[in-house]
Amino acid sequence: MKTLDGQVAWVTGASRGIGAETAKLLASRGAAVVIGYGTARADAQKVADTIGTSGGRAVISGGDVRKRETAEAAVKAALENFGRLDILVTAAGINHWGGLEQITEKDVTDVMDVNLRGTLLSIQAAVPSMGEGARIVTISSRLAQNPQAGSALYSASKAAVIAMTESFAKELGPRRIRVNSVAPGLVETDMTREAVAGRGAAVAAQTPLGRIGQPADIAGAIAMLVSADSGWITGRTLRADGGMV
Ligand code: NAP
Repeated sequence: MKTLDGQVAWVTGASRGIGAETAKLLASRGAAVVIGYGTARADAQKVADTIGTSGGRAVISGGDVRKRETAEAAVKAALENFGRLDILVTAAGINHWGGLEQITEKDVTDVMDVNLRGTLLSIQAAVPSMGEGARIVTISSRLAQNPQAGSALYSASKAAVIAMTESFAKELGPRRIRVNSVAPGLVETDMTREAVAGRGAAVAAQTPLGRIGQPADIAGAIAMLVSADSGWITGRTLRADGGMV
């Protein structure tokens, strides 16, 4: 008997990086998974195939998280294929790096729409189909609480995700739905290829565990927050950054 047997998870941004690793980990614990993706359909299918080969169940559901229809289609995929929805992980997101004078109005629209609107639309679509005991985990960032020069827009979008997470935890608590956020430090993915090349060694040196993060590190933190062991945790943001000071 696996800990998530009989449960169904929808992970946005699961074609690559943190989301893909999370989908695989939740599936290995018994959950059937809806693999959300934006444009990388082949990558999403590969994640689903890997899960299938290991004896798990997964389907893919694509589209832009900025659109309500994308979220509605993913929920429909969960219900039609697996009959329920217990877990939502909102991993879809984009990065932005640039100082005061470089941030354009388009940047603001793009970053807030994907990181904040996308998270909100996913939660709005999922909750009506979730029952007592459901769990939602948003992905924020260490940079929400520790902004750096150049991270203003990205940090603001992720701080908004944390605020929304805390508010929805209060709103959904009476329905016994837990809502938490994981705030990763620097993790090696497609998103951070340049950052890792430029400042990976410096970040590792500032981190007690002496390395930068891997997607599996964050997937593990997410899995903990959706497990029954964290049944008393809601409205919190778990910093998963190797203890970086
Ligand atoms: P990644 O490897 O670049 O993957 C991003 C994922 O988001 C992909 O699956 C992508 O889908 C999806 N996505 C992006 N825009 C989308 C859109 N408009 N509609 C639908 N899907 C969209 O990124 P990652 O590093 O795994 O990051 C995952 C999450 O963790 C993000 O929210 C990120 O902000 C956060 N985070 C990352 C780090 C880090 O150091 N890596 C640190 C803190 C927080 P397609 O490729 O299919 O389009």
